[in-house]
Amino acid sequence: MRVSNPQFAEVAVPLHVFQTFTYRLSPEQSTDAEVGARLVVPLGRNLVTSYIVSLIDELPASLSDVEIKDAQGLVDTEPVCNPEILQLARWVADYYACPLGEVIKAALPPGMTPKSRSGASFVKPKLRRFVRLLPNSTEQKLTGTQRRVLATLEDSGPMSLQSLLKTAETSASTITSLEKKALLEIYDDAIRRDPLAETFGISDEEHTLTAAQLSVLAQIEQQMTSGTYSAFLLHGVTGSGKTEIYMRAMNKALSAGRSAMMLVPEIALTPVFSRQLRARFGDQVAIFHSSLQKGERFDEWTRVRNGEARVVIGTRSAVFAPVKNLGLIVVDEEHESSYRQQESPYYNARDVAIVRAQKESATVVLGSATPSLESFHNARKGKYHFVALPERIGARPMAEAKIVDMRNVFARHAKPRVFSDELLEAIRETRERGEQSIILLNRRGYSSFILCRSCGETIQCPNCDVTLTYHRSERVIVCHYCNHREAVPRVCPSCGKQYIYYVGEGTEQLEEMLRLLFPALRVARIDRDTTARRKVFEQSLADFSAGRIDTLVGTQMLAKGHDFPNVTLVGVVSVDAGLALPDFRSAERTFQLITQVAGRAGRGDRPGRVLIQTYHPYHYALRHACAQDYQGFYEEELRYRQNHSYPPFVVLASLLVHGPDLGKVRNDSLELRKQLDLVNQERKCRVLGPAPAPLSRLKGEHRFQILIKSRSRKDLREVADKALKAVAENGVNLRAVNLEIDPVSIM
Ligand code: ADP
Ligand code: ZN
Repeated sequence: MRVSNPQFAEVAVPLHVFQTFTYRLSPEQSTDAEVGARLVVPLGRNLVTSYIVSLIDELPASLSDVEIKDAQGLVDTEPVCNPEILQLARWVADYYACPLGEVIKAALPPGMTPKSRSGASFVKPKLRRFVRLLPNSTEQKLTGTQRRVLATLEDSGPMSLQSLLKTAETSASTITSLEKKALLEIYDDAIRRDPLAETFGISDEEHTLTAAQLSVLAQIEQQMTSGTYSAFLLHGVTGSGKTEIYMRAMNKALSAGRSAMMLVPEIALTPVFSRQLRARFGDQVAIFHSSLQKGERFDEWTRVRNGEARVVIGTRSAVFAPVKNLGLIVVDEEHESSYRQQESPYYNARDVAIVRAQKESATVVLGSATPSLESFHNARKGKYHFVALPERIGARPMAEAKIVDMRNVFARHAKPRVFSDELLEAIRETRERGEQSIILLNRRGYSSFILCRSCGETIQCPNCDVTLTYHRSERVIVCHYCNHREAVPRVCPSCGKQYIYYVGEGTEQLEEMLRLLFPALRVARIDRDTTARRKVFEQSLADFSAGRIDTLVGTQMLAKGHDFPNVTLVGVVSVDAGLALPDFRSAERTFQLITQVAGRAGRGDRPGRVLIQTYHPYHYALRHACAQDYQGFYEEELRYRQNHSYPPFVVLASLLVHGPDLGKVRNDSLELRKQLDLVNQERKCRVLGPAPAPLSRLKGEHRFQILIKSRSRKDLREVADKALKAVAENGVNLRAVNLEIDPVSIM
């Protein structure tokens, strides 16, 4: 839909600036430009890649012709951001109060928006040289080698130049000579970089659905065929067969001629699952996630855009995949905080999925064994259809869970112990029965910090307000927030004495302790350190799956999605640190983590058991997790949220002022508070702070936080927006202030 002959383009830039800019188009650009295409424009002293958000025939009165600069170059003749995605991006920018250009950039595969000076390179299709025969009837004199080349092509059809050279055992000059004789042709073609190319050995068995699965599926399908928006919360305990329902529903969307999308928190954690999808849906599946190479992501995105792939599976940014005629979005593990982007634009893909389904008249299914409090509350209020799978497949019992009171263990041994005797005994028994165990501790590294016994100093990160963690295998101490690394000191950096002492254990130490205690036990570890490389991670999972490993030690990465039927023991070494975090979601997160990891036990024929070590045995999150009682937890947590005015009873926003200069950060945050009070005289919002954020210094920047709560989203936004505008007019740089709407964490 083109306006006649637009003279100007309004663009959004992929930077943290809220306004749009207008540029003059050349006659040629004017003919080709479309909304959603990329345009390189001068901004300040740089050239940036921007996105056209509207085309303009006549300048509005607010702009004068002489101030308008010329656009530099039009990158696309077809929009990279189609009207539906642009509309969705506008909603995200508006709802989360973030710049439209940043949202569009996040919606596109990486590499499509280079920080361009001129001549920057964009990701492009990958080209390869191919050779094919040309029809030719004239008899020509040929050498033996030349005849061999032609015969090879006759046998196998067009092939890449590279493999032709190899197969026909010949040289490039032979091939060019044949090209001159017009017997064959050399041409360039795009080849597909396929992240799932190695899909072997995965069998796809379609199960006969259980009665419970059938009933849930029927309800979802009924809404899907209505062709209007509908939303479901599927609460299904771990091992209840949710995945099979997702796949069937996706199939249903496909057979109705529509497309389907499935969002997962972290694909890299479930490599088997994406291959299963490929096995069931074949080439129709496109996969989107951040550990793919840029080229692979670009190709997958292109296949979706062209309509070649109609099933998308991916992590949060996949919610912006340009699928056409969307019928279904599944959000698996909808409670996961990784759906929230932790930098601007701060969007939550689960919520964007709901809005996208509304806009495109699709069905959205949120699934979880531990729904977020917000979603469960929405289902209760009737905003979502509620469907449940209360039992495991095959009537397998849930694992039996027990709390181990570490205060008693301490009293018995008169010193702290990492492993209780109960847990050690359970690991040994499990191994003797030829079964497997999973040991969880949500802290990687060897020791959580280093203390000097002489002066009492801990070794802190120079950039962040946290202690450095000791990683023994690499012999370094590391900051888990900014990745600052230094060699392990021999003497205390503060007092110079050698009484250095390591406190608090991490997964690396647990692994070592288990090896010492049980020399025959085959132990492996899974955490961010061991899984930096995708292949290593997949190998560990495969080894565990094949029974070549007895015990897997690791962080929360172990808790998600895996299906190992021979695991009968899950040991939780400690979650006390997580429980103590100064964040209103810490109980909810701990409950979810324990329930999820407990769900890894007893998925096969033998029953599972779970041991949870803690110094807080009466904490409600642990008690309910132990009893596998979601409802009980939900009621209690809801009371806490109500009493302390937290979501879902109020809308919450956090304003974080950050910067290298402590004095300036403090003053700016006080100024912000002052302006908030001025625009909030009717007390429609409650304002808390400023106070140093729980992580008061991060990556070299000081951080002060203000929280705003309100019963009305509209009031909250009005107060926040007005105050931000006022402080900007008083000289505060808004790039140093992050406004987060509905934050998932307030650390
Ligand atoms: P969830 O995602 O709810 O934790 P899964 O979808 O992983 O559960 O299902 C648990 C196990 O049960 C998987 O091994 C799956 O292949 C199997 N399964 C699912 N549905 C059926 C069924 N109808 N009959 C038999 N096995 C099933
Ligand atoms: Zn740091």
